[in-house]
Amino acid sequence: MDKFDNAPDKGLCAGHDIDIWFPPSKQGTMSRDERNKRLENEDKAKEICSRCDFQIHCLEYSLRHEPFGTWGGMNEVDRAQLRSRRGINLSRDGRILVPGIGSMNAVTGAITYKKNVEQRQ
Ligand code: SF4
Repeated sequence: MDKFDNAPDKGLCAGHDIDIWFPPSKQGTMSRDERNKRLENEDKAKEICSRCDFQIHCLEYSLRHEPFGTWGGMNEVDRAQLRSRRGINLSRDGRILVPGIGSMNAVTGAITYKKNVEQRQ
């Protein structure tokens, strides 16, 4: 176990609408308005993360453990790419997942990340 195996206890995200970091999943195609809102929220999350004292810790933790949402100023695609460049495997619920998140059970992951987020507040 290393120091990045736990998420930071609190950060600047505490007290904000958590949907900014974890946009609700959407089945099917998003409308232009929905896509724009999602991008707007993501920019907002990244801006807040950029001012957070825990950004590095949060990012390093999420590279190892979190496939969804914005953590440490990076969204899930940013992190999947960084994981791939650094050769980091995503370890989650006892499973080892390769970068790309293709084998992730999205429903199980969503439930788990919600618990993690609640514990952080
Ligand atoms: S860096 Fe992590 S702890 Fe800080 S605001 Fe962003 S998500 Fe929250």
